[in-house]
Amino acid sequence: MPAPVVSRVPRLSLLKPSAVNSILAEVRALQAEGRKLVSLMRGEPDFATPPHIVDAAIQALRDGRTSYPDNRGELKLRAAVAAKLQREQNLSYDPATEILITDGATLGLSAALMALVGEGDAVLLPDPVYDAYQSPIRLAGATISRIESRVANDRFEITMDALESAWTPAARVILLNTPWNPVGTVLSRHEIGQIAEFAMRRNLIILSDEIYEKIVYDDAAHLSPAVLSPEVRSQTVIVNSFSKTYAMTGWRLGYAAGPAPVIQSMFLVLQQSSRGPATFVQDAGIAALEGPQQCVAEMRQVYAARRQQVVSALQGVSGVRALPPEGGFFSFVDVASLGSSDDVRQRLLQQHGVVVAHGAAYGEKGEGYLRVSFATGGANLTEGLEKLRAGLAAK
Ligand code: PMP
Repeated sequence: MPAPVVSRVPRLSLLKPSAVNSILAEVRALQAEGRKLVSLMRGEPDFATPPHIVDAAIQALRDGRTSYPDNRGELKLRAAVAAKLQREQNLSYDPATEILITDGATLGLSAALMALVGEGDAVLLPDPVYDAYQSPIRLAGATISRIESRVANDRFEITMDALESAWTPAARVILLNTPWNPVGTVLSRHEIGQIAEFAMRRNLIILSDEIYEKIVYDDAAHLSPAVLSPEVRSQTVIVNSFSKTYAMTGWRLGYAAGPAPVIQSMFLVLQQSSRGPATFVQDAGIAALEGPQQCVAEMRQVYAARRQQVVSALQGVSGVRALPPEGGFFSFVDVASLGSSDDVRQRLLQQHGVVVAHGAAYGEKGEGYLRVSFATGGANLTEGLEKLRAGLAAK
């Protein structure tokens, strides 16, 4: 028998499994031994996709909408995306040339990075941040220059000093995620204005991941950098997805909006690995954007209550502080006094049966924190928080 095929392609060494995938491997090994675990780890909404969206997909299937989609995305969906951006943010994009439909934000981000950076370029990336940005940046040939965030008033923030220190002459792109996974900050108009001013001065393209735009609390409001001025719009690529807003993670549907030449390059990249999300899935996306938005508001209300539940559950545990997120469905919990974030995570997993992510997985500045997801609620959240509280109190 020949030996199994082993890939020795050097670029593979640039790639890392996502934090969630690594932790899931540990979780599955324990579950295989018969351990019962409660997970507060994934950013996976527990809501069913709203019925009118599901119905649209079923109807599309029955109508035979099963052939190849337009590779840029069905024009009707691109038009619905453009109308949404106009309606909600007063942003004008031409559906013919300035919108691309992608297989989730994941493919939108990687197509944008492949289109925008190459060997010798650098991407400015907040630290900590969603860890899955790193590998596509490296795959594109670029390096990462970390923007070291800091905590002030229970909130992670990006200062002008941190931006200037991260800058290098190789910098081409600054990647922003607001609401910001895993820390929960929603960048204010003032902060986005400062970051955009820096980006324009340094001639950087802003790659803006807005996937959590609808999940914001209290008086936090999502703002895309593109709304600031025509100049900033001309230097910004928006990436978004249906995954979180409409509880459609498994449908794999997202989009990008930006200046025509960038979208054209992204389309060239995208078509090398995708023919686009299924045609009937794109029809469901039209129903999501054009249908009633009450479902989005209802989910946000439920997330808001869960957010309170997380903060309350961890109150009074000595040495532990849950930062109340302004957006998204993660609470970043300060456990620095209890040990390294990975040690604390493993102790919680092994001894208390609760799964969370360690902050260090999201960057050096995430050390000392745990990411606790409240994307799933109900008994899972109640039981998970009980275990978490007990585990953190036990030291
Ligand atoms: N960006 C961020 C910040 C995310 O948290 C996620 C998913 N967890 C993604 C992108 C990927 O989303 P999608 O399902 O649209 O590929």
